[in-house]
Amino acid sequence: MAVSLCLSTATFVGAYLLWGCSPRHARRASADPYQGSPRQDNCFVWPEGIRAAVSLTFDDARPSQIGVGLPILNKYRVPATFYVSPDRLKARLRDWQKVARSEHEIGNHSLRHPCTGNFPWAKDKALEDYTLSQMKEELQQANATIESLLNVRPVTFAYPCGQKYVGRGKEVRSYVPLVAEMFLAGRGWMDEGANDPAFCDLAQLLGTELDGLEFQQAKKLIEAAAENGFWLVFCGHEIGQGGRQTTRADTLKAICDYARDVDNGIWIDTVESIARYVQEVRKAPIGAGS
Ligand SMILES: [Zn+2]
Repeated sequence: MAVSLCLSTATFVGAYLLWGCSPRHARRASADPYQGSPRQDNCFVWPEGIRAAVSLTFDDARPSQIGVGLPILNKYRVPATFYVSPDRLKARLRDWQKVARSEHEIGNHSLRHPCTGNFPWAKDKALEDYTLSQMKEELQQANATIESLLNVRPVTFAYPCGQKYVGRGKEVRSYVPLVAEMFLAGRGWMDEGANDPAFCDLAQLLGTELDGLEFQQAKKLIEAAAENGFWLVFCGHEIGQGGRQTTRADTLKAICDYARDVDNGIWIDTVESIARYVQEVRKAPIGAGS
């Protein structure tokens, strides 16, 4: 099996096989609500030799992502997605500009990082006090600022704190539709699973915490995703030896090593690249490529 993990999306789209089953019609409900339906093979097929997709994403433009993470990712030639808020970029602007010119993806993580006001640090930017139009303006401004600093326009988004609403009580509104309108994909945080490529909503992809995991724990998650042919999106913050919100450098190294071994059948790439592939396969007419 000779599958390059860095093939372009276009190459992959040309290579997929679709067996003419629509996920909507293929799933039958189980009598036991916790049992789930039997796995439906071949509704969505990854490129030849690929059992699962994995994306590595890192939030908040923390300096250790540049200092510790990038050398590892670059050594293994593994493209990652960095979800940045523009203010944080200024500390290491030249480095971030370099990242933006490389294979890595720069995504939007809002301008002010609004989250629930129950977090003391978010009181003055509480989602409970936001409106949809404020949020729209903020996401547009973040895109424009990132573009002016790094010369790339973000295509995907990560919800700060994984929270997807504005307002409170009867006035709560989801801002997922806004993200769907503005971006190819939106990523959550602290979710419990991987994404079913035949079914998932690209505007609210499940994000799995990478911080604190040892490699064996991360590998278990990757293998669980591979059993179902799913797309696992890991999310991290700092990268270092350990500690709060920190992805372990040794785990990152081992994941890269594992994913670069073609015998493991893992396609590791940015959220943008994999989301584009998923979108293309879903758009393709039934039977195309077979
Ligand atoms: Zn964040």
